[in-house]
Amino acid sequence: MNKNEFKVIFGSGSENESFARMVISAFAARLDPTLEELADMKTAVSEAVTNSIIHGYGGRDGDIEMTGRIDGNEVSVEIVDFGVGIEDIPKAMEPMFTTRPDIDRSGMGFAFMEAFMDGLEVESSPGKGTRIRMKKKLGVI
Ligand code: ATP
Ligand code: MG
Repeated sequence: MNKNEFKVIFGSGSENESFARMVISAFAARLDPTLEELADMKTAVSEAVTNSIIHGYGGRDGDIEMTGRIDGNEVSVEIVDFGVGIEDIPKAMEPMFTTRPDIDRSGMGFAFMEAFMDGLEVESSPGKGTRIRMKKKLGVI
């Protein structure tokens, strides 16, 4: 791990969504982000973590790994789970697509991650898990 990285591993309890939001805020604080930049990163992280909790593990126990890195004015964050994975990634990323309308999900998580960050990559294998990579450049007007 380089000097400007962190990694935390936490369980799939829904309270850990706010834990993950605090972790990214605390980590990015050294770049003196605006309130808007901070809100964007927290929202994107909590969407990814919520997805791991709800879809990846579906209420079961499991590890969620969160890794962050700072390069210059860019924050990168990765959220990994070892849950059910995604069959069709392009379909899953379409705005308003959800596999869980029964529990009132609206299918907007990936759309928010895409809108609030400057880069979003999704890797997933059914039965193995899902890896979300996001980046945000701070201080860009
Ligand atoms: P919302 O985020 O608005 O509450 P949603 O979670 O269904 O609804 P997205 O976050 O855009 O919407 O995700 C779309 C779909 O992708 C989900 O319905 C689910 O099928 C799948 N998905 C997303 N993340 C994961 C994951 N970590 N593991 C397994 N499936 C996932
Ligand atoms: Mg979601």
